[in-house]
Amino acid sequence: MFAGDHDIDRAVIELQQGLQLALHPLAGIAYDYRWSWAADGAGVFNALDPQRWPRVGFNPRRLLHDAGRATLERAANDAAYVQRVERLAAVLRADRARPWREGSVSTGHPIAFCCAEFGVHGSLPIYSGGLGVLAGDILKEASDLGLPMVGVGLMYRLGYFHQRIDVSGLQHEYWSDIDPHQLPCALVTAADGEPLRVTVPIGAEDVAVQVWRVDVGRVPLYLLDSDLPGNSEVARWATARLYESIRSLRLAQYALLGIGGVRALHALGIEPSAYHFNEGHPALGVVQLLANERSRRGGGFDEALQAVRDRVIFTTHTPVPAGNETYSGSEILGMLGRVGDLIGDRERFLALGRIDPERPEQPSGMSALALRGCRSANAVSRRHGQVAREMWQPLFPGRAAEGVPITHVTNGVHVATWMCRPMRELLDRHLGADWLARAANASTWDPVGRIPTAELWAARCAARRELVSFIRDRATGDRLRRGEPLEYAAAPADGFDTERLTIGFARRLATYKRLHLIARLPQRALALIGGKQPLQFVFAGKAHPADADGKDVVRRVFAMKGAPDVAGRVAFLEDYDLSLALQLVAGCDVWVNLPRPPLEASGTSGMKSTLCGGLQLSVLDGWWAEAYDGGNGWAIGGDVDADAQAQDARDAQSLFDLLEHEVVPMFNERDADGVPKRWVEMIRRSLQSNGPRFCATRMLREYADRMYGWS
Ligand SMILES: *Cc1c(COP(=O)(O)O)cnc(C)c1O
Repeated sequence: MFAGDHDIDRAVIELQQGLQLALHPLAGIAYDYRWSWAADGAGVFNALDPQRWPRVGFNPRRLLHDAGRATLERAANDAAYVQRVERLAAVLRADRARPWREGSVSTGHPIAFCCAEFGVHGSLPIYSGGLGVLAGDILKEASDLGLPMVGVGLMYRLGYFHQRIDVSGLQHEYWSDIDPHQLPCALVTAADGEPLRVTVPIGAEDVAVQVWRVDVGRVPLYLLDSDLPGNSEVARWATARLYESIRSLRLAQYALLGIGGVRALHALGIEPSAYHFNEGHPALGVVQLLANERSRRGGGFDEALQAVRDRVIFTTHTPVPAGNETYSGSEILGMLGRVGDLIGDRERFLALGRIDPERPEQPSGMSALALRGCRSANAVSRRHGQVAREMWQPLFPGRAAEGVPITHVTNGVHVATWMCRPMRELLDRHLGADWLARAANASTWDPVGRIPTAELWAARCAARRELVSFIRDRATGDRLRRGEPLEYAAAPADGFDTERLTIGFARRLATYKRLHLIARLPQRALALIGGKQPLQFVFAGKAHPADADGKDVVRRVFAMKGAPDVAGRVAFLEDYDLSLALQLVAGCDVWVNLPRPPLEASGTSGMKSTLCGGLQLSVLDGWWAEAYDGGNGWAIGGDVDADAQAQDARDAQSLFDLLEHEVVPMFNERDADGVPKRWVEMIRRSLQSNGPRFCATRMLREYADRMYGWS
């Protein structure tokens, strides 16, 4: 159906060669990430070799390749296990056999979803945070909905960095080599049987790229890779690291993604009905499309631009400057001068990325290029829509901010990926068969109102207990590795309690996310941890390597570690990634978010938490500004204060007031059976109000109807 089918088939057959006949279906499963959101998917791989499964980073191809002879023999001779494999294979087969919904978007003309990062699964480390995880969720949802789509991204040889923290609380970064030959992906070959290649003009070099295919259910994700012997060392490095810190190399990455992406799709024989540029990074695709349009039809520049625009959709994901970088003309021409030549006019090329094309002294950026080159643009929450319209108003002279053509499609998360097992099993029992397909309908969630309180509470407690058991091991391991005193390292085993109120905060540690508010009133924090009704905190998150302020926040949190009770009731878990996120959002009773308004475009980890029955305590910014209804969680005011210090002081007060006066008492108010009734009622209300609105099903339908014109 899509380019690379045969390459995936060949890879599956090769993997089967080391397996007993009874285990052959496992090879096919391993090459389709659909297993990761099937009911028994991870269970089947875990059962094969529970020791090895985490060691291979939950990568099924490596598991099957590395598993010992005896392990495989044992599994192949275990009739119950073989049956489990066959059942899983049947689920994947049936899913693939469902027809696509062909229309104005079709398998012949799919949506090309282009993004610098994709967070599909922990074993495919080509993402850094929310943007990538959202992109991964969109591919999964497209597969579920049958919306014809292909993904386009980059294969990073070193991915995003790993985090270690030393005893003083200082963050260290390291990168580990990813060998694509060990990932569940296949190199796409051309008709001549050789790997398919396209080139991208970067600096003076024509950089060659090859293309890997990863299957995310029915949606193929094509990943471009410049790590080829014929390329210069600099060109090979261009796809080494996600968000490379050398500025001009980031420009090279944008060219590989945008120019390379459009060229690769053409070489793959894929003619998209539309290109969806998810954030500005792929925006140079506009330039390649313009060049194609002009060489195909001739005609004027403006006419060609209009024709290109008709096929481009752009989503902006952040108002933060780091997400909307600009470059001087000379910087851009140094790396991308020959990209400008594609449209025969370097000055015009630069002008496309300026706010005011008539002012050559202005810098150019990818976001402006994308806005100028798209037929429709959107922000990712209602409030972010307003912020984005004001922010980009100068690009639309003569229009008031309200008239700026940027709408919003609020983010959502992929339910089958993010809903924890205890909650999923509970809802499967109560919401009726195939409720997932109906997750976007409010009425689907009505039966949540009738689930017996004790059952709902039991599911929550099961989720928390799993997390606490995980934290005990993981926190101890982190501390031993850091060389902490043994007593401190061992404290989580007894200190973390499976029944205690567990509060989580985990996300990228950009300063606007304000983890530092928690450390701002240390006496109140310590009183909560050591009080009569104690709570426990779990933190995680990476600061960008170049972000000194972000790193300082980690140090400030670590500075509290010597205080009484902290060793056993507060944990900072290192190296936040998808696998860790899954555990944390599943188990925490309360999920805290403290962005400095209005900088949180959406935020998605809170949506994941609500699906697991977690309650939100968040600033009224991003998604929470439209989700909070007065009774489905807790809110800190979202007004913007020009005095950042004053706002921090006020918001820290609000945070602790809410924790002390509302959250802690409500959690500990128990009936005769030990159930916190009011708490469970709030979970109910949270599930019913948030479930249908912040699921990826609702989001993708909105993209399909309003942005893709899929009918
Ligand atoms: C969901 C997710 C994020 C985004 O979290 P926010 O709340 O939007 O900051 C970041 N990283 C990982 C690994 C995630 O799963």
